[in-house]
Amino acid sequence: MTDTHPAIRVSEIFGPTIQGEGVLMGLPTVFIRTGGCDYRCSWCDSLHAVDNRFRHEWETMPIDAVWQSVVALSGGRPVMVSLSGGNPAIQPFGALIERGHDDGYRFALETQGSVARDWFADLDVLVLSPKPPSSEMRTDWAAFETCIESAQEKPQIVLKLVVFDEGDYAFAKGAAARFPRLLVYLQPGNHTPPRPGNEDAPVDLDGINKRMEWLVEKVTRDRWFEARVLPQLHVMLWGNKRGV
Ligand code: SF4
Repeated sequence: MTDTHPAIRVSEIFGPTIQGEGVLMGLPTVFIRTGGCDYRCSWCDSLHAVDNRFRHEWETMPIDAVWQSVVALSGGRPVMVSLSGGNPAIQPFGALIERGHDDGYRFALETQGSVARDWFADLDVLVLSPKPPSSEMRTDWAAFETCIESAQEKPQIVLKLVVFDEGDYAFAKGAAARFPRLLVYLQPGNHTPPRPGNEDAPVDLDGINKRMEWLVEKVTRDRWFEARVLPQLHVMLWGNKRGV
């Protein structure tokens, strides 16, 4: 049978492993990491899926092939599928989500909230991660709100904010105040992100842990009791290693 759906530009498909961040932390997950992003964050930890210099590593795959990979990795047992990137919102995921749901799989997508898609309403979890000032990106809040509207209150929507410094913390508080109904997850930034081809370079775990401590102190001192502060579990376990 011919697959008539648009193809998906894939950087890597891997798992199952645990989700290392945010609301689904610890949950066994298969990851579909897409290639390409409309942002260029200064501290991006997934440059191999962002920078066009690595385009030769990406593969434009029919939905059938993507889905076969997920099923093979999960042994046919329904599992959470994380759509990440890059920015997965610029890929046509609607048909894949429909197909996966038919087989009992669930889908989470993480995006910066710059591009809204009508299939956001078909997700199970939508993680919106607006990028703080240290990223050197600017959030288009109108586009961001369109992402929330596109979800039509169907998936669980959470905010995830990376914090490096005071400016990022103020941004996170502002973002949370804009969307008081959404759960908020804060995570200390990794100032030693992987560089493509050099994923074995060590992470500064002590530095990240100090930032985590600082963040916990900030949140508790401010009595910001709605925020949840979490580390990146995969960084603690495997550093900058890819595909885990
Ligand atoms: S939005 Fe995400 S994937 Fe894109 S450049 Fe920023 S950190 Fe990297």
